[in-house]
Amino acid sequence: MNPFNELGIRHDIVNAITELGFEKPTPIQESAIPVLLSGSNDFVGLAQTGTGKTAAFGLPLLELIDYKKNFPQALILCPTRELCLQISNDIKNFAKNLPNASVVAVYGGANIVNQLRDIKRGVQIVVATPGRMKDILNRKAIDFSQVNYVVLDEADEMLNMGFQEDIDEILSTTPDTKKTWLFSATMPREVRAIAQNYMTDPKELTMGTKNSGNVNIDHEYYVVKARDKYAAFKRIVDYNPDIFGIVFCRTKIETQEIAEALIKDGYNADALHGDLSQQQRDKVMKRYRDRSLQLLIATDVAARGIDVNEVTHVINYSLPDEIANYTHRSGRTGRAGKTGVSIAIINSRELHKIRQIEKVIGKQFTKTEVPTGFDVVEKQLFGLIHKVNEVEVNDQQIDQYLPRIMGEFGEMSKEELIKRFVSLEFNRFLEYYKGARDLNADATEERGSRDGKRSERGERGDRGRGAEAGFTRLFINLGAVDDFSRGDLLGYICNNTGISGKSVGRIDMKGVFSFFEVESDLTNQVIEAFKPIDYHGRDVRIEVSGDGGSSNGGGERRGGGGERRRGAGGFGGGERRGGERRERSGGGSDRGERRSRERSGGSAFRDFSGKRREDRREGGSGRSRRSDW
Ligand code: ADP
Ligand code: MG
Repeated sequence: MNPFNELGIRHDIVNAITELGFEKPTPIQESAIPVLLSGSNDFVGLAQTGTGKTAAFGLPLLELIDYKKNFPQALILCPTRELCLQISNDIKNFAKNLPNASVVAVYGGANIVNQLRDIKRGVQIVVATPGRMKDILNRKAIDFSQVNYVVLDEADEMLNMGFQEDIDEILSTTPDTKKTWLFSATMPREVRAIAQNYMTDPKELTMGTKNSGNVNIDHEYYVVKARDKYAAFKRIVDYNPDIFGIVFCRTKIETQEIAEALIKDGYNADALHGDLSQQQRDKVMKRYRDRSLQLLIATDVAARGIDVNEVTHVINYSLPDEIANYTHRSGRTGRAGKTGVSIAIINSRELHKIRQIEKVIGKQFTKTEVPTGFDVVEKQLFGLIHKVNEVEVNDQQIDQYLPRIMGEFGEMSKEELIKRFVSLEFNRFLEYYKGARDLNADATEERGSRDGKRSERGERGDRGRGAEAGFTRLFINLGAVDDFSRGDLLGYICNNTGISGKSVGRIDMKGVFSFFEVESDLTNQVIEAFKPIDYHGRDVRIEVSGDGGSSNGGGERRGGGGERRRGAGGFGGGERRGGERRERSGGGSDRGERRSRERSGGSAFRDFSGKRREDRREGGSGRSRRSDW
């Protein structure tokens, strides 16, 4: 007998979940189900992601519904459409043998008419995102006066997204006697406040250490130079030919850019973020679930709570703004007893963030080296051999061609033949990784002092725009998209001007341009020296940095293409500049916005401000945006 029976779940439901592979309850289910079945308590359940919270509340709800009555008896609120669909599907699956059960999903971005029609037909369990739910309540299209149970799933995320008022409004239409169940992976102060405001004397259940990481997840970090990030990321992916991963970026724009770059580079990837239409998001999720996508590039909000089986890797392409989000991200892998790897690709200045995350998750990261070109090529080669071994041969189809094929290869030895077939695929990687650089940044670069000794030029990237005393900051129209590293640029400047490297101060590499400092009395010499110089047919332009430089902000963002742009545009000290900041933090500080306004012209600004408002929601609440770092 399935132990779920002993917990008090009826046969019809147990049969359905047994088919789903639920052979025994997870710890949170085992502890929560008996309490919730009594129906007499408010409840707070804290458990890591992937521990089966949906069934922990879904199964008791299904037991407590009166199927003879066709009005809303339970309301489940959750932060995103994806989660809303996932929860309603899960519950429908649990209730598959209960012919009279009716579950409706209510979420934004989809046709409201259909949802209203579903509600009208009669519904017992409503699964909803707060915005659309409020909308439907305002139309007086649903009556919550007989709701007995309200579930708040991923409550912290709903608060982060600024749904507090919507939730207040929705809950005010439910009776005071209802019971409220709150489920979350973490318990920040804000959630504690909800528990206090909405609940009376809730039973609280914490599984494992609060906020602690899942034991099935290994955490790794790679230290690379900001401009090598995209290349390093691709190597990590290439080194794991069977990867089925979710890649987290911090903003919608970054998400979109990385996805586009990957697609261009021939990867099986797509983006999931809030700027996509409902249909687009559904399509992407479906392709990912069906495994016709290998890499899902997502924002924190869009992927919150997403449950896809057997995700092998979570990649933090950018670390999240809030430490708690690291737990949510990594929780997309290592689910349902499987193991997974959570990877952070960082620059040397972000090491302290790794240490902070370690404290929160109670687990150590392993510092891992970015594979060399050789490593990747070798791994791909044996991946290919493995595939040849595993491939299913369709005899029926292939037999008809065999005589001709054999004819072609008649003379060839087995060894020669194998070599040739393998080379077919292998050459691509061999070619791609020919002469590939070591992408590992020396982690000891994390310097104690951030106060700007000249020897650290450029690495800091977070000081003001002014040059150091005695130095003048110059603009040059060459940058990372031209395949220049900082060292290359230094050499280029010295070679063309004859000045010594010691006379060059900080170098700020950007996308299509850069800044560098020279000793002030050499300024004219440098400008003069570059006048006749061109770079691949393009005049090299040098100007004293000032207004001229900043007007290039927009161009940089859009400029370039491919690998370089990602590396440099997104990260090369971008925090400092308004225009870039918007990409990085999806809303950022007011100061960031003000600066961006100053630098962008009329129409660009309108476009920008519209985007930003949504970005804010995606990136966290505008009101209480916090950064833990
Ligand atoms: P959480 O909400 O805690 O992040 P989910 O409810 O999304 O987790 O469940 C995570 C995964 O574990 C889902 O794929 C679910 O089907 C599976 N699962 C849940 N409970 C069990 C169980 N008792 N036995 C096997 N798999 C389970
Ligand atoms: Mg969940």
